Amino acid sequence: MGKVLVVGAGGVSSVAVHKMAMNPEIFSEIALASRTKSKCDDIAASVKDRTGVTVATYQLDAMDVAATVALLRATGAELLVNVALPYQDLVLMDACLEAGVNYLDTANYEPEDEAKFEYHWQWAYQDKFQEAGLTAILGSGFDPGVTSVFATWLRKHKLSGIRQLDVLDCNGGDNGKAFATNFNPEINIREVTAPARHWEAGQWVESPAMTHKVAYDFPGVGTKNMYLMYHEELESLSTHFPEIERARFWMTFGDAYINHVTVLENIGMTSIQPVMHNGVEIIPLQFLKTVLPDPGDLGALTKGKTCIGDIATGPAIDGSGEKTFYIYNICDHEECYAEVGSQAVAYTTGVPAMIGAAMVLTGAWKEAGVWNMEQLDPDPFMEMLNTQGLPWQVVELDAPVDF
Ligand code: NDP
Repeated sequence: MGKVLVVGAGGVSSVAVHKMAMNPEIFSEIALASRTKSKCDDIAASVKDRTGVTVATYQLDAMDVAATVALLRATGAELLVNVALPYQDLVLMDACLEAGVNYLDTANYEPEDEAKFEYHWQWAYQDKFQEAGLTAILGSGFDPGVTSVFATWLRKHKLSGIRQLDVLDCNGGDNGKAFATNFNPEINIREVTAPARHWEAGQWVESPAMTHKVAYDFPGVGTKNMYLMYHEELESLSTHFPEIERARFWMTFGDAYINHVTVLENIGMTSIQPVMHNGVEIIPLQFLKTVLPDPGDLGALTKGKTCIGDIATGPAIDGSGEKTFYIYNICDHEECYAEVGSQAVAYTTGVPAMIGAAMVLTGAWKEAGVWNMEQLDPDPFMEMLNTQGLPWQVVELDAPVDF
């Protein structure tokens, strides 16, 4: 039905491309381009092996807009799926506008020299995409992504508005490594070392990173410590659902992870300020990424489950008073590895990237403009989650959260 160009060939890309190949009635041609072509070739070989589908591969520096435009034209892609890094978001949106191609990503733009998670740079493209008659979908991973669609689904089918929202991201998996991140280490560490921030009573409330800890009993996983963090969907959800009084994001971390990050931060290894080393300028966090395990290699080692979802409280749609719902997905690391050769963190991001792409290619989401996931009809996306490996459940809780 549609031709797609996927940019980036890391852990998330591998899952997205495998799942596209498993849906050939939607993705009639798949092209994959990245900075290192051999990584595209490895993904293409695995896809061929598992599905019989041929993926065309290309070398591309996504910072080179002219090269991306040329490749979009050569492949005839109708949609560019950006699963490279957040630094590439704006240049890839520029390339899409020039080539007349729709756009989708999984993480909001960040300037490389500052860990700043804000949507205003991408929201500024609204008029350009509308005028061009093109669709740009922002944040089609799990969080942001599925958690945003979960909130919209609750607001459409269960609650007439959301008064309180907590996004809970639990990874109960164990990879046996002393310290490893589950997705790009540079992006992950920038995120977890940033100050925590949540939305309350119409303003942002900031606290130091990793200082607010709560033990929570997650379905399918058990009790884990989760920490209050800032996450980009808080900005878009509090903007698009203005009735929200409080919105928070929580992520689980084990004690060993927290200890490692604390030491690395204390000794300056998480810094993104350049330093001179033996006459060469290096960025400590980028050097750290080089020596840490590649998350793409953790698939075979990781056991356990993830449980990611939303707890939302608000007035019930049927007028029966205030209600609280917990909507979540449980995903098993070993089952993901058996299906596509990746662990569950890459799987829970790559599958929604594929589903978001399917929404655009099938015309289910076709309005011109720049959209966050919660602004779009949740129903066709939620149906595909159930059939594409990320089934969800919704339960009513007795009371709002007490933490
Ligand atoms: P990886 O580091 O594994 O992969 C990134 C890929 O992008 C690599 O193949 C890299 O190339 C390529 N790349 C980087 N710079 C360029 C460039 N200038 N031109 C072309 N290719 C480039 O990252 P992940 O797969 O872990 O993450 C991918 C994205 O998904 C990130 O933006 C991340 O923030 C997002 N994410 C979103 C989540 C969500 O739930 N919404 C959860 C997890 C991740 P090379 O191999 O040469 O380095």
